[in-house]
Amino acid sequence: MRRPIVIANWKMNTTLADATVLTTAVKNQAERLDIDIVLCPPFVWLYPMAEMLERSPKNLHLGAQNMWFADKGAMTGEISPLMIKNLAKYVILGHSERRSYFAETNELINDKIKSALKNGLKPIICVGEHKKMQEEKRGRGRPVRVNLKSDIISQLKEALHGVDKDEVEKIIIAYEPIWAIGTGDPATGAYANEIISNLRDVVQKKYGRSIAERIKILYGGSVDEDNIKEFLYQPEIDGVLVGGASLKAKEFIKICREAGGKE
Ligand code: PEP
Repeated sequence: MRRPIVIANWKMNTTLADATVLTTAVKNQAERLDIDIVLCPPFVWLYPMAEMLERSPKNLHLGAQNMWFADKGAMTGEISPLMIKNLAKYVILGHSERRSYFAETNELINDKIKSALKNGLKPIICVGEHKKMQEEKRGRGRPVRVNLKSDIISQLKEALHGVDKDEVEKIIIAYEPIWAIGTGDPATGAYANEIISNLRDVVQKKYGRSIAERIKILYGGSVDEDNIKEFLYQPEIDGVLVGGASLKAKEFIKICREAGGKE
């Protein structure tokens, strides 16, 4: 069985005081939960949070929200893997906000993924489609067959280009339909499960069955304390990536407790 993982993407939110309160609240609960938790704060809070979590439970980790692929150089405003690697274990790459507001291409994201792996960071790769598919519009709970040539599949294939078999298990894949992010309109559990099963097939074709069975694939998009169960009970979904709801300590802890089977 794949151990569940819950990832918090705080995006461009929190003051240092907010970050401290949130981190302390999660730290106090993490030890009791049989899951992994990754907090991804804005870059500037990584250092103070790494200090705060020095003696933290082993299942509570830090992640960056992005990085550039080169180790150093003339790249004003960017952060390199060398700067992140002593502070965080994970890095989110290919988030839809980076793809749409900063025009990040599959090729650039692939360069970042390979660089993260080379530097010992675990990439959390986000993939997802823009438009709600017709089948999903027709009714909640109705599973769909995904067009294998769709955006989602090619995003994943291009993300994994040149990634070796012995490195790929360090990657976490997050299926995040763009229409569900920050909208309060999540996918159904059945729909997310079906897409994730197709993503697992891509991994299986490229790397074989045992890797595909071990790699973690999460759902993200308007997950909250009320709908979390719908995703966790799906066999293909190994956890969730949470944006808005990760900024409220009580709600985020409830999501983590659900994932840890404690609610
Ligand atoms: C996200 O930005 O990755 C995300 C899942 O956001 P939200 O939970 O707010 O939809």
